Amino acid sequence: MKYVIAGCGSAGISAAHEIAKWDDKGEIIIISEDHHPFYRRMHLVEFIAGRLQESNIIRTEQDVFKDIDVKVLAGKRIVSIKPEENRIRFTDGENQDYNFLLLATGAKPDLNELEFYQNNFYSVNSLNDAVRLKRAAAEAESAVIIGSNFLAVELARAFLNLGLETHLVSRKERFWTRDAMGVTKNDIEAVLKNSQVRRHDDRGIADIQDIDGEMWRVITKSGVKIDAKLIVSAQRMAPNIGYTIYSGIKTDRGILVNEELRTNIPNIFAAGDCAQFYDINRGMHRINLGWASGTKQGQTAGQNMAGKDKVYVIANDEFFLDLKGKNLLERWK
Ligand SMILES: Cc1cc2nc3c(=O)[nH]c(=O)nc-3n(C[C@H](O)[C@H](O)[C@H](O)COP(=O)(O)OP(=O)(O)OC[C@H]3O[C@@H](n4cnc5c(N)ncnc54)[C@H](O)[C@@H]3O)c2cc1C
Repeated sequence: MKYVIAGCGSAGISAAHEIAKWDDKGEIIIISEDHHPFYRRMHLVEFIAGRLQESNIIRTEQDVFKDIDVKVLAGKRIVSIKPEENRIRFTDGENQDYNFLLLATGAKPDLNELEFYQNNFYSVNSLNDAVRLKRAAAEAESAVIIGSNFLAVELARAFLNLGLETHLVSRKERFWTRDAMGVTKNDIEAVLKNSQVRRHDDRGIADIQDIDGEMWRVITKSGVKIDAKLIVSAQRMAPNIGYTIYSGIKTDRGILVNEELRTNIPNIFAAGDCAQFYDINRGMHRINLGWASGTKQGQTAGQNMAGKDKVYVIANDEFFLDLKGKNLLERWK
């Protein structure tokens, strides 16, 4: 049996381990568009902040799959899927066939209203993004972060650590709208108030202007003007599912899967940030971004691909806030 896993993140890796556990004769192939796919994504902010080196966050293939046999195809971007031929197609024109396919392609920044300005700012989703941003931060004195969520707050902490004058521009009504694992909006507001972060609660971005090829001017909808060399978009993340178009795989905001994480096509599954799974407790489809839920969904999908009959039940908001033993608030001390 040939199992193909699209994505080398928490969902894809945990699925590979489960498949190997339950089908020791199966062939497992894991694919990533990243040329260096194995790194600890949730440690990227600490890397940007200069608290971790690249060597601390990069993992090797041997380390990730030390007890199991997995073929890794790195630097291969999936452009389309043909379920009727059990085949995926890459941007380089090559194909890969499968008996079972897991889609675990994660999420990507949803640029939303900033799409028009996308050449003017950085965003962080991969190790390469983080390397680029860190390099740019080393040459800047001030930075503007545009965002209202976890990543925006974390980047503010990183930039303060680098000694940058740090501005955080948020949409007032979108700022920290969900209590993530016990950390409330009040907790975050208190932490930011006691810090050097300059907050701008606003209605959105009206313009991003190039002043002189080096400095940018961010103009908010309330007319506030902030000049900086470095602008970072940390807007919300959205499931990365563009390649499913015309495949017949049902999608909504993410790839729609049932409680077994199976799509409408019986031999195709989805797990992690790209999946919109059926929550049997709430009776609705949901997306749950996060490292821990990616791992758990990957395990369930892997077991079911190998013939088990498991149901994914979400325990909580499975976002992982503990970073090297420190929760989100302790990191500011
Ligand atoms: C900076 C940052 C900090 C974070 N901090 C935390 C945190 O503290 N706690 C937490 O719980 N979560 C955190 N997250 C979120 C967490 O990393 C994700 O929820 C988790 O990685 C999701 O795992 P996944 O396997 O679904 O997808 P990902 O880990 O995103 O992996 C997606 C994989 O799919 C591959 N891929 C994508 N598109 C294609 C394609 N077309 N063709 C081939 N391959 C493709 C990518 O190369 C990658 O290997 C953070 C994310 C970021 C970006």
